[in-house]
Amino acid sequence: MNSIDRAISNLNQSIDDWKQHTSISFGEFLDLLTAHPTRVVRNVFQVFHDMIKTYIEGGIDEYPDDPESIHYVYYDCHRLFIEGTDHPFFADRLFANRLVNLVDAWKRGAQQNKIYIFEGPPGSGKSTFLNNLLMKYEQFANTEEGMRYEVIWRLDRKILSSHKKQEVNHFLDDLSKLLDEYELTQEEIIDAKAALQEEGEFIDIPCPSHDNPLLIIPKDHRRSFFDDLFRNDEAKWRLFTEKEYEWVFKTNPCTICSSLYQALLHRLKSPAEVFSMVYARPYQCNRRMGEGVSVFNPGDRPLKQNILTNEMLQKRINALLRDSNQVKYLFSTYAKTNNGIYGLMDIKGHNTERLIELHNIVSEGVHKVEDLEENVNSLFFALMNPEDKKNIANIQSFSDRLEYIKMPYVLDLNTEVEIYRNVFGKQIELNFLPRVLHNFGRVIISSRLKSRSEAMLEWIEEPQKYGLYCDENLQLLKMEIYTGHIPTWLEEEDWKRLTAKRRRQIIAESETEGGQGFSGRDAIKIFNDFYSTYARKDQMITMAILNNFFTKVHPELNEQIPHGFLDSLLRMYNYTILQEVKESLYYYNEERISRDLQNYLFAVNFEVGTTQTCNYTWDKLEITDGFFEGIELWLLGEGVDHDRILAFRKATQKEYTASTLTQEIMFGKQVTETKLYQALHDRYVHNLKSKALDPFLANENFRRAIKDYDREEFKTYDKKIKSDVTFLIKNLCSKFRYTKNGAREVCIYVIDNDLARQFT
Ligand SMILES: [Zn+2]
Repeated sequence: MNSIDRAISNLNQSIDDWKQHTSISFGEFLDLLTAHPTRVVRNVFQVFHDMIKTYIEGGIDEYPDDPESIHYVYYDCHRLFIEGTDHPFFADRLFANRLVNLVDAWKRGAQQNKIYIFEGPPGSGKSTFLNNLLMKYEQFANTEEGMRYEVIWRLDRKILSSHKKQEVNHFLDDLSKLLDEYELTQEEIIDAKAALQEEGEFIDIPCPSHDNPLLIIPKDHRRSFFDDLFRNDEAKWRLFTEKEYEWVFKTNPCTICSSLYQALLHRLKSPAEVFSMVYARPYQCNRRMGEGVSVFNPGDRPLKQNILTNEMLQKRINALLRDSNQVKYLFSTYAKTNNGIYGLMDIKGHNTERLIELHNIVSEGVHKVEDLEENVNSLFFALMNPEDKKNIANIQSFSDRLEYIKMPYVLDLNTEVEIYRNVFGKQIELNFLPRVLHNFGRVIISSRLKSRSEAMLEWIEEPQKYGLYCDENLQLLKMEIYTGHIPTWLEEEDWKRLTAKRRRQIIAESETEGGQGFSGRDAIKIFNDFYSTYARKDQMITMAILNNFFTKVHPELNEQIPHGFLDSLLRMYNYTILQEVKESLYYYNEERISRDLQNYLFAVNFEVGTTQTCNYTWDKLEITDGFFEGIELWLLGEGVDHDRILAFRKATQKEYTASTLTQEIMFGKQVTETKLYQALHDRYVHNLKSKALDPFLANENFRRAIKDYDREEFKTYDKKIKSDVTFLIKNLCSKFRYTKNGAREVCIYVIDNDLARQFT
């Protein structure tokens, strides 16, 4: 075999698309219908729903046990809008919830004869959204999972002509009559004759409206037909009772299918024989060909001919059925997207006329194609800039056929940051101290929010009480809610007041936000400017740099940011990192506390100046005054005079030997289960909580040790300080994702800005 033959042969084997196009008989179709009823019986709304659910899957609820949950959940839209696209679209959490809720409503069969208008300001990514959505729909609809069948009539010449043999001549005689009626040219008459005598057993007549084959069963008989066909199982029950399947019993086939059915029935006198000419084939979606999906741009001129025919096919039909008036193979361009999606990119230019025409059709449910009425059951999408609303002012005010879905700029912080990562690469994060990148996103989003939020103020009546972590407009808190996060700094009482009703009110406000402020495009430009100026190998981007950028370097940007927001953001940042440093130092570190206390209890029995190995922890202890004081600081607090410390140590030693050791440990208790241990533990934690940092911050040695961490000089410090600093830095890295340098920088920042005092 030469290479050409081999290449062709391989191609021949690997291309199997054509198999999908193969038609099956109505009987085979019914087999499939009974085997997979919920897959075969689907209209465009149901397929669209399945498509979204296939790509997005279930949402994640971060608070699954929350009784006030409104199921405002996280949907991973990566596969739907990003994977395999030329331009990714980023749906924020708010929009993703809006979209999923809409699609769920369609699935439940909520009113469907509407035009769905996605309304968003320029730069919100509307056209990217629609292109990606339609691309995924087209792909899905052509897979086995998303595939539906459509009618194709296969007229059997042999059967039909045997019924009318004697009539053929009659027909030929009547050609002259046809000539008058249709003004056919001589050439066309010859074509028609040829068609009659043409070889081949069948004439295939596709349904241009992509009707589901089950619609060929006369409407009045469908219920009893399905009753016979299906077992009495859940699927049947759903089909018969659920609103989403109402269309199955209500929809008429297109005029071509119904007239063909009538003509054939008239001829064959047997429905069974008619059904033997009904075939089913996969409904192939092809946006470029305008089949199943069609999208119009404002500049696309209206077609000269809105009504389509197929002369060749018409002649054949006429020839075969003799009576040329019975079946008119005539349809409008809307038929091509019947049971599919019809989209308008932006309502201006010619799309304004299209929308108005569409509105009339949707209101009526049918439209006239010459003297025929054509059904239109499609999913109608349109995109609109708010300022283009005026173009349809005469219909929008009173129409309940237009449903608007808001598509504002991104309002969810995580999505905003995801966009920067996508555009500039994941490595950008390495140039920021933790939280600073997200704070950049917060600044951008603050410009998009309304400064006064009735819903937030109704919930939290005195915003000032959160002055340490939040701005007075509560935008920072609202941003958290939009990302699906309820901050831990909320007071218990406010947490309780965050009822389902209030949550809905807050989320509903997002519909009126994001139409102003920095657009998606602006944000990327600003970020690019910021990042390219400040990203350096040797220094990470800090809050000071961020603040400076928006206030000093580009004061014009600051004008779009609500007054006082940057200050509040900085305060929240300071508060948050202070908590991180505190927590990393000791806070709630049970293991560390326990180790300290066990070592302390063991050591009080020994003279200062000796070295011992602790029986409980196996730590080697250098028992010095420094060692005792390091722990007593936590047991007694700061500023206690030396005599009291010594007295405390002595009393502890006395109790340890007199009762702990002899009455508890000797009788099998663990040291950590003893009364003395518990008492010390309580003291330790109490002091820790209130004054975790103070001792360190007052200690110049500690500050210097942090600066010298990871350097040669670090070795010269006292053992206790070394271990505290190492512990702190390691915790910051492991718990809060700092790098070593970042952790060091943030500690120095906390100390130098005296944050511990600011927040007492
Ligand atoms: Zn049809």
